[in-house]
Amino acid sequence: MAGTKSLFVPGPTNVPDDIRRAIDVPMEDHRAPDLPRFTLPLFADLKKIFKTETGQVFLFPASGTGGWEAAITNTLNPGDKVLAARFGQFSHLWIDLCQRLGLDIQVVECDWGTGVPVSVFANILAADTQHKIKAVLATQNETATGVQSDIAALRTAMDAVGHPALLYVDGVSSIGSVDFRMDEWGVDLAVSGSQKGFMLPAGLAIMAASQRALEASKTASMHRCYFDFKDMIATNATGYFPYTPPMTLLRGLRASVDRMLGEGLDNIFARHNFLAEGVRRAVAAWGLEICAKGPEWYSDTVTAIVVPEGFDANAVIGRAYHNYGLSLGAGLSVVAGKVFRIGHLGDLNELMLMSAIAGAEMAMRDEGLSVEAGSGVAAAQEFYRLNQRVSAIAAQ
Ligand SMILES: *Cc1c(COP(=O)(O)O)cnc(C)c1O
Repeated sequence: MAGTKSLFVPGPTNVPDDIRRAIDVPMEDHRAPDLPRFTLPLFADLKKIFKTETGQVFLFPASGTGGWEAAITNTLNPGDKVLAARFGQFSHLWIDLCQRLGLDIQVVECDWGTGVPVSVFANILAADTQHKIKAVLATQNETATGVQSDIAALRTAMDAVGHPALLYVDGVSSIGSVDFRMDEWGVDLAVSGSQKGFMLPAGLAIMAASQRALEASKTASMHRCYFDFKDMIATNATGYFPYTPPMTLLRGLRASVDRMLGEGLDNIFARHNFLAEGVRRAVAAWGLEICAKGPEWYSDTVTAIVVPEGFDANAVIGRAYHNYGLSLGAGLSVVAGKVFRIGHLGDLNELMLMSAIAGAEMAMRDEGLSVEAGSGVAAAQEFYRLNQRVSAIAAQ
């Protein structure tokens, strides 16, 4: 096709040109004597993205799922009790991973469209007076349903009942896109991946561990080898890796971190909120609902849009792709066929996002949904026009 395809799945996200160029370099020696001049500042700057001074950053050649496995196997023992909630496909897959790794996981089932049930967790933790629960798992942004959870509130609740469990946060589709404060929120293991807010191809698990997590890793007895923190800690200290690192992705990550720190984290978070709000206005103008069951759950990185009874969301996605070269995110598992998703994270601005809103609107009309032509587009246009973020352009 002429022109470009439009990628609006919530990961992989668009890779900006400067990052693409940073990746397109000749292969280099990963044991070169001057490599630490590159890697050590990269580790230091990544800590700024996680907002941790006391934690340690890890980069594994893997996707986000590998980061989960690293977080769990480095810090827990077989049969340990952990607490998690299921409210979407990613929180579900994390639970599945824990079960398959042999943990005793207590699952709180929640409505898809809600998020981490802080008060339910607080009651469970308060009742656990013997502190059998070793870990609390929280998916900050449930990408399947477009639900954002309140990690600060979870930390407050854990502190209020004085429970010492480690706090694990899946921030794969949130870290670097929406507010995340590892130290302030007392997060012990934070997991992200390269292909979402970091605007890179998939292939890097980007994570951070607190000092408490590192302490736990010294005695944790789950099997691990490739993902062992110990080998990483020993080699990273001098700026190297225990095995061949994906140097091209690391060069890309350098460009990505420069971009993020250049824009400023607060500006990035404000931009994501602004872009997301335009999408929500469009959905309201279409007369449709979003999967998130209330504003407290709204995600600023992805919106899941519920199609009316009798229509197939996958057919809308098919039309969008075949008729307009637009990739929308599919509904997963419980919400398959019921929702389609617009990813709005990473390297995006309002006019780029308008193409997804327009394309989704056209595809829904092609499928016979009764959405008025131009209604969502107009609502988003007016929101973006009347609430312009002058600083966004001026800053570039
Ligand atoms: C994408 C995603 C994952 C899985 O990451 P992979 O990189 O596909 O392994 C996990 N959790 C959340 C919240 C995600 O959005």
